[in-house]
Amino acid sequence: MSNKEPRPYEGNAERVTVTGWKCMHCRAFYGNVDGSKHRASWCCCTDRPCEIEGCDGRASKGYVACQDCQAKEHRRREEAVPVGAWDTDEIFVNGDLYYQLCDYLGDCEELPTAESLSLDCSIPMRVLAPKIDLEDFILSDAPEGCELSDDVAQAEADINAIIERVSPNWWEGSNARPSPDALRPYIEAERKSRGYDD
Ligand SMILES: [Zn+2]
Ligand SMILES: [Zn+2]
Repeated sequence: MSNKEPRPYEGNAERVTVTGWKCMHCRAFYGNVDGSKHRASWCCCTDRPCEIEGCDGRASKGYVACQDCQAKEHRRREEAVPVGAWDTDEIFVNGDLYYQLCDYLGDCEELPTAESLSLDCSIPMRVLAPKIDLEDFILSDAPEGCELSDDVAQAEADINAIIERVSPNWWEGSNARPSPDALRPYIEAERKSRGYDD
């Protein structure tokens, strides 16, 4: 259909006055279709209303919540982390492994409360030594149909026991935090060594 009616060049343009949305700051024009107003508003803005219900704060561009609401959400997530058993001096604080909790506390300018420290900590979990799959190791380049001796399973268990024994220990943070009660004695000891009054 479009090929049937001729459309001469001379009659194919008409002057119009364009209405639409532009950025007040850089004056970029965003047209007049769905989303034009949003894109013009977004263009050079620096902040917008916090989207958390009941909050009248401002969220920085690129965030849905203001800083207060972000901090509350962060705390809520930390509080949701379960409290676990913990029986060493090693501890993760804010993602860093401290081998001695008392050393960490000794470096704190201002001592945390047991409750706030508990929220910032995670209980270390030993990273397991790697294991060898002996069948895969031996047969990876072997021709199809090769069979292994029955001794391989025992050999694999022995090798993995050796790897486990000689591997260095290291830890990563677990999905649990120490209870405030477990931390309190360390904080008390540090308070005493500083000569703070109770
Ligand atoms: Zn702009
Ligand atoms: Zn907010």
